[in-house]
Amino acid sequence: MTFQRRTILGGFAAMAALQAAGACAKPGRKLRVGVIGGGLIGASVAAQLAKAGAEVIVFEKTRPAAGATEKSVAWINPVVNDAHYMKLRLESMDAWLDDDRTLGMKAIWGGSISWAYANKKDSLQTKATLLEATDDPPVYLTGEGITKASPGVFPGDEVKLAFQTAKDGHVDPVFATQRYLAAAKRFGAEVLYPCEVTAIKVVGGAVAGVTTTKGDFELDHLVSVTGTDTPRIMALMDRKLELAHKPGLVVHTTPRPVTTKLVYEASSILEFKQYADGRYLTSFTSGPPNLPQHTEILKHQMAYPDAALQQFHGDMLIARTAEYMPAIAEAKATRVLLGFRPYPLDNKPIAGPVPGIKGAYVLVTHSGITLAPILGRYAAQEIMTGVEAPILAPYRPARYITA
Ligand SMILES: Cc1cc2nc3c(=O)[nH]c(=O)nc-3n(C[C@H](O)[C@H](O)[C@H](O)COP(=O)(O)OP(=O)(O)OC[C@H]3O[C@@H](n4cnc5c(N)ncnc54)[C@H](O)[C@@H]3O)c2cc1C
Repeated sequence: MTFQRRTILGGFAAMAALQAAGACAKPGRKLRVGVIGGGLIGASVAAQLAKAGAEVIVFEKTRPAAGATEKSVAWINPVVNDAHYMKLRLESMDAWLDDDRTLGMKAIWGGSISWAYANKKDSLQTKATLLEATDDPPVYLTGEGITKASPGVFPGDEVKLAFQTAKDGHVDPVFATQRYLAAAKRFGAEVLYPCEVTAIKVVGGAVAGVTTTKGDFELDHLVSVTGTDTPRIMALMDRKLELAHKPGLVVHTTPRPVTTKLVYEASSILEFKQYADGRYLTSFTSGPPNLPQHTEILKHQMAYPDAALQQFHGDMLIARTAEYMPAIAEAKATRVLLGFRPYPLDNKPIAGPVPGIKGAYVLVTHSGITLAPILGRYAAQEIMTGVEAPILAPYRPARYITA
């Protein structure tokens, strides 16, 4: 199978052509859509809906990007072990290029290098094989080859499989969220924060409005883009959703001379990258080990229990990353963030109408930085025109959301 990248909907320009024909606005006025959640996906949806002619209000309980978005590695990539899901991600990468160009996202398009030691070789091979059928096939490397391709990175001779891709990118996810929200506002959207949605009014099986910490709002349509809080939002409509619990650690550093544009994925242990201003970001991909000190983190979401542990984690993660990229040892941790991934049980997106509640739509996914542009486009298309996007068929909420 060959995946061809192609532009769907044509981004912001084409969205202008979408009118509220298929959606249920009150006569004489625009469709009023509430977007709950001001993370990257919520911001993308808000921008696309506002551009398409909806009256949009974003409700964000803390501040834009305060959820998983600001704790993300923000690697934009197609690398997964499922062909259909890879296709969706590739479409989103095209949409990213479009949004980067039109909205000035300052994404860095330098590609990536992934490698695996013996225990992770097979799962990385599955992903590499799927990439071979795309227009950015993997270039296979040895451990030594990685150092040649990216001087200053030394994964060692135990590498069993490694490859480089050319088209992946990365972004500052907080900045990108701000750009989408600014675009949404230019098209007339209101962005309210701090403003928590505390109740959802459903009349005759259809969304009628929300109660928030800033008052009540009448709505025709509601989009929940609330990351790990999605089960709570579903409960407000008497719907059940379980997500997996996946903590993640991300460390930002002081700047050092810029040596790379690549994103590195080290055998499902670490992911790291360097921003254009020299700051590094590094993250454990594997989640916290099962130690007694991690009991609480492994059970539920929480803030760092104390500053000393935060500092310890920052220093440890820099030291671990320096085993592969020694230059990072000269940097100091500036922000050590404990994040929680919005993680559907099958690690695929949940996207579409909430079963049994007319006018309610939900988006919750890991890899939401990669997917934000495409999910924004498809959600806006489905809400505004009622025309279903066939590519979203495997990701419909009914597989996990029940009454
Ligand atoms: C450690 C880590 C590394 C990651 N790395 C990558 C990566 O490299 N590439 C990638 O593509 N993805 C990555 N992800 C995943 C990605 O960050 C998320 O999928 C994405 O940020 C989800 O965006 P979102 O807008 O759906 O959710 P969020 O960013 O979580 O936003 C949800 C928002 O909803 C708000 N909210 C919740 N309840 C309410 C309410 N009742 N009222 C009003 N507002 C509410 C919250 O305050 C929050 O701001 C990573 C995540 C983590 C934690």
